[in-house]
Amino acid sequence: MKYVRTDLDDNSEMSGSLATNSSATGGSSMAAMQSDDSVLPVGSPGNGVSQPRRITHLHRLGVVIKRCSYLEKLALLAVLVLLLIVLILACMLYNVRLTASSGRLGYANQLYNVTASANSTCTHPVCVQLTARLLSYMNESADPCEDFYEFSCGLFRQRVTIPAGRQQANVFSLQSGANEILLRSLLESASPSVSADADINAELRSNLAALYRSCLNESAREEAGLQPLLDLVAPVGPWAACNATARAYKDGWTIADGLLRSAVFSAAHSENPPFFYLGVTVDIFNTKRRAVHLSQSSTLLLRDDYVRNRTANLAALAESLEELAKLFGLTMTAQDVRNIIELERKIAEISLPEWKRRGSLLMGNSTIKQLQEDFPCINWTSVLLTLLSNSSYAITNDTPVNLHDRSFFEQLCPLLNQLSSDAEQTRLVNNYLLVRSIWPLLPFTTPAAYRIPEKLTYRIRGVHGTEAPWKICVQSVDGIFGFPLGKLFVDSYFLRDSHSAIERLIDSLMAAFNASLADARWMDEATRRQAVGKLDAIRRLVGYPHYFNNATELRRELGGYRLRPDRYFDNVVQIQRESTNRALSRLSEPVRLTFGMTPQSVNAYYSPSFNAIAFPAGILQQPFYRPQFPAYVSYGAIGAVIGHEITHGFDDSGRHHDRDGNKREWWSNGTVAAFDRATDCIARQYEAFTVDGNVQVSGQLVLGESIADNGGLKMAYRAYKQQQKPDEPLLPYLGDRYSREQVLFLAYAQTWCELITPEALRQLITVNTHPPGQMRVWGPVANMPEFGRAFGCRPGSKMNPIDKCSVW
Ligand SMILES: [Zn+2]
Repeated sequence: MKYVRTDLDDNSEMSGSLATNSSATGGSSMAAMQSDDSVLPVGSPGNGVSQPRRITHLHRLGVVIKRCSYLEKLALLAVLVLLLIVLILACMLYNVRLTASSGRLGYANQLYNVTASANSTCTHPVCVQLTARLLSYMNESADPCEDFYEFSCGLFRQRVTIPAGRQQANVFSLQSGANEILLRSLLESASPSVSADADINAELRSNLAALYRSCLNESAREEAGLQPLLDLVAPVGPWAACNATARAYKDGWTIADGLLRSAVFSAAHSENPPFFYLGVTVDIFNTKRRAVHLSQSSTLLLRDDYVRNRTANLAALAESLEELAKLFGLTMTAQDVRNIIELERKIAEISLPEWKRRGSLLMGNSTIKQLQEDFPCINWTSVLLTLLSNSSYAITNDTPVNLHDRSFFEQLCPLLNQLSSDAEQTRLVNNYLLVRSIWPLLPFTTPAAYRIPEKLTYRIRGVHGTEAPWKICVQSVDGIFGFPLGKLFVDSYFLRDSHSAIERLIDSLMAAFNASLADARWMDEATRRQAVGKLDAIRRLVGYPHYFNNATELRRELGGYRLRPDRYFDNVVQIQRESTNRALSRLSEPVRLTFGMTPQSVNAYYSPSFNAIAFPAGILQQPFYRPQFPAYVSYGAIGAVIGHEITHGFDDSGRHHDRDGNKREWWSNGTVAAFDRATDCIARQYEAFTVDGNVQVSGQLVLGESIADNGGLKMAYRAYKQQQKPDEPLLPYLGDRYSREQVLFLAYAQTWCELITPEALRQLITVNTHPPGQMRVWGPVANMPEFGRAFGCRPGSKMNPIDKCSVW
C-alpha cells in the first residue's frame, strides 16, 4: 500500500502530521507542551543536567507566589487548575484518537505512522457528506499507480446503474438529475395562469408552468394530432408524398427552391438541418462584427454508420422511417425509404469526419460574392435575403462569410446537380426534405410520434427502459425554454455568496497559467508576451446572465410569450419562432458577450471568439464546489474545471485566436513547431489508451480536450500549492489515510467517473471531442510528476511513466 502517504510526498503538511503522531519528535504545539520542563512532576529524578534548572525555576516561582496578594494567588491557582484540566483532556483525546486509529487503520499506522490531529479535521456536515461520496466511489483495493481511474471510480462503476432511458451515468449527469428534481418542484409549484399586468418573474413562472403542463398533458397532445406539424412544414413543400400537395409538387418543385425554404424553416425549427447549416454569428476573423456562417450539417445517423455500413443501425433507421411514413399517411414505399438512406450515405461520404473539423481549425474567410462563384449550385444571396427578411443585417456581395468544411461544399454542388437532373432523384430530395423537416419536431407532438426517434436512439445506443414523463418534460422545458427556467433555478438555488469565492479561484488559476507561460521554454519571447496579454484579456461569465438582475432587460430578453397548458406543439413553435425573430432583429446591434449556456447547466465552456470562460451556476455546486469544501477538494474539482477552460484558449484550436478572439496566426513559426511536437505527444499517448477491451480514440479528435484536461489539472495543483495553508482541515477518515495532495487528485479523478453502454461508447468515440472518463484521468495524472510523488508511484508504472507529455 505504498500509495498511502509516503515520505516521498512533497507537501509541508506531511511532516506536520508525522510530528503530531509521535511525541518523541516534537515540533507541533501539542508535542512541545508535553515535553515542557515546567510540567514535569516535582521531585522527578531526571538527570544530572536538567534537575538544577528545574529547581531554580520552582524556587523562583515560590518567591513570586509569596509576593502575591490573596486574589492574585487565587487567580494563579485557577490558571494552574485550568492548565491541568487542559492537559488531562489533551492526553485523553490523544489516547482515544490513537486507539481508534490503530483499530481501523492498523496497517497504515504501522507502515507510515499516520494520524491526523483531531482539531484539524473538518467535521462540518458538508465535509462528512463529501467524505462519504468520495469513499463510496473509490475502489481502494486497486493500485492507484497502475490505474488511478479504477482506484477513484471503481465502486462508482459497480454501484451506479445507468438510469432507465439513458445511455450513460456520470458525475455530470447525476448532478443534472438532481437538478431536474429541483426544477420539477419549481415547475409544479407555479401557476400556469397569470394576470396581464404581472411582473416579469410571475410571467416567466406562469409560462414555464404552462409549457411543462402542456408537455405532460398526453390527452391534449393526442387530441391535437399530427396535423399541426404537417401544416407547419407545408410551406417548405409542396410535398410529393402528401396526397393533398402531390399535384402542386408535380407543377414544378425544384431542389433549389426546396433548399431555400428548408434553410429558412430550419433556422427556427431545427438545430440539425439537412445538407448544410446556414446562419449569422460573430465573425471569427473580426469579432467586432458578424458574418454569415456556413458549414456541413449532420445526417440522421452518425457519418460512420453510413461510411462503415453498419447494417443493423441502417436497418433500424429504415424501420423508423417506414413507421413515420405510415403514421403521417405519407405515400412513401419501402424503396423510397431505402433511397432516402442511400442519399444520406452520399451526404455522409462527402462530409468531413469530426476529427478533422474540430473547433475553428477548418474555418476559412470568404464573402458572399466568392461563395456564389465557388459554389454556384445554390443561390446563397436569395437564401440569405429570405432568411434575414425580418432583420436589419445587410447582405451584400462583400458580406463576410465564415466558411467551414470547404471540401464538403466542393462536392455538394456536383451531388446536387446530379440529383436535379433526374425527376426521380428530385422526388427523392423532396421526400428527404419532408422527413428532415418533420423529424426534429416529432418529440413535441403525439406520444406515438414521440416514440419514433426515441426508439431509434434507444436501439442504436443500447438504452433500456424509458424515463418518467416528468423527467422527459423537465428536460424538454430545459431544452426549449432554458433561460427562463434558469432564472427560476438561480432565484431558488444559486448561492450568490459563492460568486466572489469563485472569482478568487479563477484569479488563482489565472496566476498559475501565467506561471506556466513563463515556464514554457519552447516559446519565443514575442509570442510569450502576446500570450500573457491574451491570458490577461480573458473575460469571465460566472453564474447567470447579467440581465437576470434587471427587470426591463429580463422582459426584453425573455418576456412576451403567451403559453397555454393544453397546447404543447403550439407553445414550442411559438418559442422557436419568437426566439429566432429576436435573434435576427438583434443582428444590427453591436456584438456583446453573453452566456451561451443556461444557468442550470452542469457544464462550463471557453469561447474562442469572445476569449471568455463561462461557469454556469449549475457547475458551481457540489460535487464540484461548496464553500465549505477544503481547498484541496475545490482545486481538484472546480479548480481543474476552471483550469481546463483557461487552457482551451491555448489548445491547438484556441491558440489560433488572439486576445480579441480574432482568428489569425500570432505565433512565430518556431514556437508553432515546438507546440506541435508537444501536442503530438499527447495525441499519441491518448491513442495508445484502450477502454472496455478494445475501444480506442482518435488522438486528433480528442486533442483539444486532452490538452485542456492536462493543463487544467496541472494549473489546479499549482494554484493549490501557491495558497496552501499548513493548518488546513483534513477530511474525516480520509484525512487519516491520504494526504491533501492525494485527495486533490482523487477529487479530480472522481469528476470523470462514468458508466456508458457499450453501444453508445462506440458511437460517441467517433464524434465526441471529449475522451472517455478513464482517459481523462489516466492522461493528466500520468503526465504530472507531482502525482507520482504524491502516491509514491514507481517510475515506469502506468500512472508514472518515464516519458511524459507536457504542453502547458
Ligand atoms: Zn473542454
